[in-house]
Amino acid sequence: MDILIVGAGIAGLRTLYSLRKDGFDVRVVEASDELGGVWNHNRYPGARCDVESYDYSYSFSPELEQEWTWTERYPRQPEILSYLNHVADRFDLRRDITFNARVASADYDEVGAKWVVAFEDGAAMTCRRLILCLGQLSAPKTPEYPGQELFRGETIVSALWPRRDVDFRGKRVGIIGTGSSGMQMTPVIAETAERVTVFQRTANYSVPAANAPLTADEIRDVKAHYAERREMTRNSPTGLGFQPGKVKTLDVDPDERERVFEAAYNRYGFGFALAYPDILLDPEANAVASDFLRRKIGERVSDPEVRAKLLPVTHGFGTRRPTVDSGYFEAFNRDNVDLADIREAPITEFTETGIRTTEKDYPLDLIIYATGFDALTGALLKPRITGRDGQTLKEKWAQGPITQLGLGTAGFPNLIIVGGPGSPTVLSNVMVSTELQVDWLTELLKTLRDEEIAEIEVTPEAEQAWNAHVAERVSETLYMTADSFYNGGEVKGKPRVFMPYSGGVRHYRRLLEKCAADGYAGFALRKAPLAKTAEVQDAR
Ligand code: NAP
Repeated sequence: MDILIVGAGIAGLRTLYSLRKDGFDVRVVEASDELGGVWNHNRYPGARCDVESYDYSYSFSPELEQEWTWTERYPRQPEILSYLNHVADRFDLRRDITFNARVASADYDEVGAKWVVAFEDGAAMTCRRLILCLGQLSAPKTPEYPGQELFRGETIVSALWPRRDVDFRGKRVGIIGTGSSGMQMTPVIAETAERVTVFQRTANYSVPAANAPLTADEIRDVKAHYAERREMTRNSPTGLGFQPGKVKTLDVDPDERERVFEAAYNRYGFGFALAYPDILLDPEANAVASDFLRRKIGERVSDPEVRAKLLPVTHGFGTRRPTVDSGYFEAFNRDNVDLADIREAPITEFTETGIRTTEKDYPLDLIIYATGFDALTGALLKPRITGRDGQTLKEKWAQGPITQLGLGTAGFPNLIIVGGPGSPTVLSNVMVSTELQVDWLTELLKTLRDEEIAEIEVTPEAEQAWNAHVAERVSETLYMTADSFYNGGEVKGKPRVFMPYSGGVRHYRRLLEKCAADGYAGFALRKAPLAKTAEVQDAR
C-alpha cells in the first residue's frame, strides 16, 4: 500500500481519517485487539484525563462536536475509550485497521524507496511511507527488585490493566509510584480495599481537579461557541486554552499574588502553571509557586508526620510532570491508607508475602506498579527500525533523539513520526498538537503525491539546527533542573536530553507553516530514490 500507519490511538485514528479523506491508499496496524492506544491499556480505577473533556476531543468535524456530549469536566478512561470507538464507527475507520498486528521490524529498501514491515506473527507488508503513531507514554517501565518472582500475591502494571473487574475487597494493596497514575488510583482503591500502602519515592505536586458533572448550560455553551474555543486552544502555548498572565510573579503584591494563586489552584488545573508567565522560567518565581502548593498540600493532610513526607521538596513545581488529582492527599486521612517513604527507607526486596523495606515488612495481597513509562522514545525504539546503510533508529538515537520538527530523522526516508520527540507532545494538550501535525503532514503527503516525489528525507543540517533550537528553548526554562521523563534522567542508561519541544504549540504551528511555505525546508524531496540516482551515476 501507499501509506502504513502504526498505532490506532488518538494519532493513528486521526491520521487514518485525514489521509483516507484525501484519497490515499492507507492502512493502520495495531498491536492490540482494540483501538484507543493508552486509553485502551490504562484501565486502572480512577483513570481520567487531566485535560478538560471538550478540549480533549477531535476538532475535524463540527458534526461530531455537536453529536458527542461529555458528561464530566475531566473525562474518565471508559468515556474517552467510548468516544474513540464512536469516532471509529462514525467515520467507518475500522475497515482500514488490522488488529493484533505487532510490528517487529521495519527495513527501508533504499532502491525501491519503500518500507518492508515485518510483524511478530511472521506476516509482512510493504508501503511507500511509514507513519509511526506509537504514543509518547505507551512503553511501560517496571522496577526490578530482588525476590520479585517470590511474591505469591497478584501484581498488576497500571498501564497494562486487565480487562476484568479487579476486586479490592479484603485485600492489602501496595501501590508503587506517585505520578498521575498512582495519585489517581489511590483514593478510588482505598474506598474498597482493606488497606492501601503507597510506596513513594518522590513526593509530587498536584492541583485539585475540581472535577464535576457538566451541566446542561455548560454543554450548551461549549457547543454554541466551539469554533472560538478551538481557536483559543490552538493559540495558547500548551493547547489548553490558557494564556499566561502578563505580570511577573515577584512584581505583584503578595496579597494579590495569593488571591491569583488561590483562584488558579481552585479552578484551572494545569492552568496554575500559567498564573504568572515566569513560574517555569525563573527559580525565584518557581519557589514562590512551589511554596504555595506545599502549603495547600499540607492543608489537605491531617497527620503531621505523613504531611511532612507528602510535601514535594526535591524539585520545583512543574519541572517534572505535576498532577491534577481528585482526593489524593485526603486519602491519607483514611484509617486504611499508609504512606511508605521509600526514599527514606528504600525497598530492599520482595518476599513471598509482600514488600520489605530497610525499615519494615509490608504484607500485601496485590502489588500495583504505577511506575510510569520509557517516555517519548520507548515505543519508537521497540521495533527494530532500520534506515539507510543498515543503521537502526536505536543506533541513530543512542545519544538522544534528533529530529527535524519532531517529524522525522535523517537516514530514515519516508518515515514520519506523529507526537515524536522534538515536538510539543507531552508539554501540550496532545489532541491539539496531534491534529496540528496530522493536518500538516496530510498537506505534505498531498504535495509528495502531486509532485511524484519518491523519497522525502530530513537533512542532517536541519535536524542539527532543530535539536539546537529545542535545547536553546529548554535552556530558558527550569525543566532541566530535575530528572524527569521529559529528559530521560529517571531511566537508567537513557541519555539525559530534553525531548519535547518547550517553545509552545502556537509557536510550533508557525514553524510548521513556515517550513511548508519554504517548500518543506529541512526535508530533501527526491523524484527518484537517492540510492537509484547513485546507482545510475555509478553505472555511468
Ligand atoms: P510517572 O509520572 O512517570 O510516575 C511514575 C512514578 O513511579 C513516580 O512516582 C516514580 O518515582 C515512581 N517510580 C518509578 N520507578 C520506580 C522505582 N523503581 N521504584 C519506586 N518508584 C518508582 O508515571 P504515571 O503516573 O503513569 O504518569 C505518566 C504520565 O502519563 C503522566 O505524567 C501523564 O502525562 C500521563 N498520564 C496522564 C493521565 C491523565 O491524563 N490524567 C493519567 C495517567 C498518566 P520518581 O518520581 O521518584 O521517579
